[in-house]
Amino acid sequence: MNLLTAFIDLFFPRICFGCENRLQEEEKILCSNCESSLQFLTGICEICGSPENPSACPVCNSNEFIFDKARSLFSFNATVQNLIHELKYNEMKRIAKYLGEYVSKYLYLFQPFENIDIIAPVPLHKVKKRARGFNQAEFLSKSISVHINWWHIPNLIMRNRFTDTQTKLDRKQRQENVSDAFIINPKFEIKNKNILIVDDVFTTGSTVNSICKLLKKNHAGRIYVLTIARAL
Ligand SMILES: [Zn+2]
Ligand SMILES: [Zn+2]
Repeated sequence: MNLLTAFIDLFFPRICFGCENRLQEEEKILCSNCESSLQFLTGICEICGSPENPSACPVCNSNEFIFDKARSLFSFNATVQNLIHELKYNEMKRIAKYLGEYVSKYLYLFQPFENIDIIAPVPLHKVKKRARGFNQAEFLSKSISVHINWWHIPNLIMRNRFTDTQTKLDRKQRQENVSDAFIINPKFEIKNKNILIVDDVFTTGSTVNSICKLLKKNHAGRIYVLTIARAL
């Protein structure tokens, strides 16, 4: 550690985004303990990526997923939860960059998707975007596209109207709520294009599902979904 770094560290100690302990010099976002809790999700359903029961997936059974494949890097644990929280509210650029590196490692190791043409984020509603100032899914898709040479279109999918915040609704209400919440940006031709949709968390899959429905209706090719974590 040089003198300047030591000085800065004394007055502005860097803390782990997972556990808030002080970081060592060589640690960037997480301490080595928290980092070791980030394990790629394996033993999963080939279609939806759920680790529930890969051979007879209950999640696929109770949903009509439109996407060809969905994958999540990690299951939810405290470290992942804290990272995603910080991604939404504070250190978005640094954390998106950090997670982007994990995504490129994941894609290299598992190669889950074939011949992707376009990468696009799930959009945030304008009102929320204005309040928060940015879309965390867009930060993620951008930081992934830095590593991989796919065409990044941040505004491919757009919100059609305000959809109430989803947390208070049950599953059926959610599905109804998002049914025509999105439009495809008419500036872009998506016919036969393979598209990867990026979001931070896969919860019920209803939001991405309605996006995928719309993409299929507009004759997209294969549609994939990638999230950092999954809660299902
Ligand atoms: Zn930690
Ligand atoms: Zn499944």
